[in-house]
Amino acid sequence: MFDLIKDIMKPLGVSGREGPVRDVIKEKIAPYVDEITIDALGNLIAHKKGAPGAKKLMFAAHMDEIGFFTTCIDDGGRIRYSNAGGIRFAETVYSHVVFENGVRGVLVADDDAKEFNIKNGFVDIGAKNKKEAERRVSVGDTFAVRGDIRRIGGGRIAGRPFDDRIGCAILVEMARRMKTPCPYDVYFVFTVQEEVGCRGSKTAAYAIMPDIAVAVDITKTGDTPGSLKMAVELGGGAAIKVKDNSAISSPELVDKMIKLCRERKIKYQLEVLTMGGTDASSMQSAGAGCMVGCISIPTRYAHTPVEVIDMNDVSACVELGLALIEE
Ligand SMILES: [Zn+2]
Repeated sequence: MFDLIKDIMKPLGVSGREGPVRDVIKEKIAPYVDEITIDALGNLIAHKKGAPGAKKLMFAAHMDEIGFFTTCIDDGGRIRYSNAGGIRFAETVYSHVVFENGVRGVLVADDDAKEFNIKNGFVDIGAKNKKEAERRVSVGDTFAVRGDIRRIGGGRIAGRPFDDRIGCAILVEMARRMKTPCPYDVYFVFTVQEEVGCRGSKTAAYAIMPDIAVAVDITKTGDTPGSLKMAVELGGGAAIKVKDNSAISSPELVDKMIKLCRERKIKYQLEVLTMGGTDASSMQSAGAGCMVGCISIPTRYAHTPVEVIDMNDVSACVELGLALIEE
């Protein structure tokens, strides 16, 4: 599965510019589903048909990543930017970045900057002046931080953006392994623009009108110095979300997931996140609404260039997703 994860993480996909990610996922999932559609916003909807009249089960993972839009280029050929999604600049500065057209650069800050922010940060693409920079980058071009994806020992891997390409990889793996015939009509939805307010999942859920919707996304952990006070730890198994700042999971679904984990001996933990949100929030309130839950992948240093996840947690998330489909 490591290679699948790497392939899905490679393309750039800042919110609103998910096309390259969608192309890769479409190719990966096509052999395992009955039909694939792409809606007006760019959501990729992969459908595996159930028996006639079966209830609809929708899984959602977002393709977009936090990143930047070029706002202007100054006289020195420096690229100035605005953020797409919640970025803490202290976590992002002094990194390699790649633009959507392949141009490479480094994200840096003024030499005398005491703290890093959008005003003193810029991208150096090696251009001598404004004119030269303009030949390579235009206002509106997106870019994001890119680094290697590496195994760091203990079954753990580091890189970015696990948020939420790891969720996308889990959905592809579920589609590959799910048994047929299936008691549900299953929709694997790869959403756009989650990081800027869960926009894609809203229209996708409205179009599908699922009975049950489950977001598969990363969550923070409470096991590093200075981290949030929360019970989730890396290596502790699939995290079953009870609530975050944007949605409260349906208690019936939380109970069902706990029961499935116990019966099938899937390692799990319960998650109460005091911040953030996922596509579950917009799916819950789309149209007449539906029952929602969230399978979370514990992630250390989330939204930095060196996010860390545990492959055993990833396997547990795949097992839990498959258990939901089969019951
Ligand atoms: Zn996410």
